Amino acid sequence: MRNPEGIARALRAAESVCICCHVSPDGDTVGSALAMKLVLESLGKRARVFCQDKIPDCDCFLKGAEEIARPEENREKYDLFLAVDVSDPARLGSCLALKDCCAHSAQIDHHGTNPEYTEVNSVDGEAAATCVLIREQMKYLDVPLTRDIAECLYTGISTDTGNFSFDCTDAETFRVMGDLMETGFPLAERSMVLFREKSKEQLKLLGRAIERLRFEENGQIAVMTLTRKDFESCGALSEHADTVVNYGLETVGTRMALLAREAGDGRIKFSLRARAPLTVDDVAAQFGGGGHPRAAGISMEGSLEATVRQVLRAMKETLRKETK
Ligand code: 5GP
Ligand code: MN
Repeated sequence: MRNPEGIARALRAAESVCICCHVSPDGDTVGSALAMKLVLESLGKRARVFCQDKIPDCDCFLKGAEEIARPEENREKYDLFLAVDVSDPARLGSCLALKDCCAHSAQIDHHGTNPEYTEVNSVDGEAAATCVLIREQMKYLDVPLTRDIAECLYTGISTDTGNFSFDCTDAETFRVMGDLMETGFPLAERSMVLFREKSKEQLKLLGRAIERLRFEENGQIAVMTLTRKDFESCGALSEHADTVVNYGLETVGTRMALLAREAGDGRIKFSLRARAPLTVDDVAAQFGGGGHPRAAGISMEGSLEATVRQVLRAMKETLRKETK
């Protein structure tokens, strides 16, 4: 349930806030965290943003991005722990330990699978992005929009709506975007960086994934895999694979897509996608993952081949249930 009043009370009562992003950060968690930092600083509070993993290059233009710290660097105590866009405690990674440095805890999130793991929770699985909820939160704190905050919120909203095209995109998305546009932030310039420009490493990696693309169940499920070797030989980072799965889903006739990549931590990271009315958050949940109905993820132990077999079996089951 959304609870902007509760979050506003917790934020007003705090002098210092430790803001945490999820592992493998995306534009929504980074945009939400940096926007909240600016909001809290404008209220005269101390705020610092933490993330276990590297921030994607395309989000590094945001104000304050260069000051995002690794949890291990922290030596301070805070009045409030605030997680943004973090669907479950495991997605905090090493940021979870920061909770012990804070007197109280709260979170703002938009994943329907969120188990509401803090003292004060504002969670709405229907919101298009956590950044939409941050905009609402600002109204409850009487903090006006600035161009810098607008850039942060635009980054999150455009990322999570697939540049305003996924079925989570709704009227509230555009109402918030209307507010953001009033600040005069350079949308065309930012959308070039976020959605059009690709690094050479990213393109090479995409080539690898497409070369290996295969289809199952009469072309209805697209399967792609990326090994450590692929990343190394392309000079690519994990973030460069973040939108690769969409090429599978966007093939004519495909209704579900899976990308499995060997992550740097020795685990296999899955990105699952579905076209309506099919869902993948339930598939992800079977393996300890989560996310949204049409876009979900899993982090699993095991070999690439064995884990793909397991997850694919569950996806096929979803397809069969639907046709029954
Ligand atoms: P992506 O495939 O883009 O990494 O993630 C798609 C969605 O699933 C995002 O909303 C992300 O937060 C969520 N997600 C990705 N990986 C995991 C995971 O390991 N566990 C959970 N609970 N959610 C995940
Ligand atoms: Mn999000």
